[in-house]
Amino acid sequence: MKISNQVIEDVVREVSGDNVIPLVKLLKNKTNVSEFVLAEKLEIEINSVRNMLYRLYQANLVSFIRRKDKKKGWYIYYWTFNAKRIKYLLIDIYKKRVERLTDKLKLEEGHQFFICPNKCVRMEFENATDFEFKCPECGELMLLHDNSDKITELKKDIIEHEAKLKNALPKEKKVIVKKEKVEPKKKVVKKKVVKKKVVKKKVVKKKVVKKKVVKKKVVKKKKTAKK
Ligand SMILES: [Zn+2]
Repeated sequence: MKISNQVIEDVVREVSGDNVIPLVKLLKNKTNVSEFVLAEKLEIEINSVRNMLYRLYQANLVSFIRRKDKKKGWYIYYWTFNAKRIKYLLIDIYKKRVERLTDKLKLEEGHQFFICPNKCVRMEFENATDFEFKCPECGELMLLHDNSDKITELKKDIIEHEAKLKNALPKEKKVIVKKEKVEPKKKVVKKKVVKKKVVKKKVVKKKVVKKKVVKKKVVKKKKTAKK
């Protein structure tokens, strides 16, 4: 999958917090950026920059080299953003979200919930008995909550996140299968010209397939009409 800037920001935000985003924007597509340059551009203290960089470093989102400043005699750290790490973190994030949603679903499916008609609180049956089914906030009698909508929503969320996870996972196996199918065709035809011919053939094939599909559909319609 393609890693867009938006995805990079979302992952960084989730892993290292919102306030590192401007820093990451400065680091992106560059290598070995001095931490002093970062502090100057962000107009913040060097210690704040180091704190942010440390958080990114913990998530393996940045790497550094250090060089001794000849004049001042101390070490300066130069930082590089590790963009390749994003897709692995993304997979982790989706996995965790699926797990969290699945836990929630189990909880909703396996328990009865009681809710205050004024919507102050919602709690499990066991807790509601402790309050004798009276809302601890307003004293109204709590009612059994129909959570079927919530369950439906959770299931939908799980399916969506599982699809995102599947999309984020590397597709090596599928690529290998495709290569195997294409290779024999390439061997038959000569080099250079191959690409153009193959492309043309593919286009023609696609058109043919479409026509076939249309015909089939027509046939099916006729059949159903007869029935
Ligand atoms: Zn209440």
